[in-house]
Amino acid sequence: MRLRHKPWAKDFIQKHSEYVLTSVPNDTTWQDIFQNDQPLYVEVGTGKGKFLDNMSVKYPHINFVGIEKFESVLVTGVQRALDTQPDNLKFIHSDVNHLLDFFQEGEVDRLFINFTDPWPKKRHEKRRLTYKTFLELYQQVLRPDGEIHMKTDNQGLFEYSIESMSQFGMKLKNISLDLHRSNIEENVMTEYEEKFSEKGERIYRLEATFPR
Ligand code: SAM
Repeated sequence: MRLRHKPWAKDFIQKHSEYVLTSVPNDTTWQDIFQNDQPLYVEVGTGKGKFLDNMSVKYPHINFVGIEKFESVLVTGVQRALDTQPDNLKFIHSDVNHLLDFFQEGEVDRLFINFTDPWPKKRHEKRRLTYKTFLELYQQVLRPDGEIHMKTDNQGLFEYSIESMSQFGMKLKNISLDLHRSNIEENVMTEYEEKFSEKGERIYRLEATFPR
């Protein structure tokens, strides 16, 4: 992702703590934060937050949280939230490595991994968001039957993720090697998905659950 330097982004994020959190106190749950007991869906590497913004409108009875490490990207999602004022959408400014600082065990109902960076070089394997250390984090915050939904345009990352998840003992289902030409209904597109599908590139998708 090409990053445009935005020197004002840090202040902007601090100023809008109603939509973007940089920490969560130890015993605080997301039910406390949203002040309701709706299901909780999380997107890791949310980018500019377009997917969650659309999801939050389409599914008002679900709470959505997007995690993004770059302020300069996240500000777009926060600006959009300030316009639309959703009460079921928040963002976290953090690296996904710190997931356990933000969520209680078993608190998350569904986790989305959308068009995450493929890191094709073997020496960067540990940065892929489907590397085993990330799967360990997701397993802790997801409820036991909670699902991971993954989409990508990158065949290499998709094949790697299937292997990584299988080695972890995860169960995979609803695998599509060409999402936009398959029968999976109710697909909400992400920003990257729109870009890639406009170029005619195929989109890979899977759902996965952890062993019980
Ligand atoms: N999910 C969005 C979409 O589909 O349009 C954005 C995709 S963009 C290629 C991937 C995003 O994941 C980038 O904004 C990147 O900064 C973020 N990201 C990658 N690794 C991350 C990590 N370890 N922690 C937080 N964000 C991360």
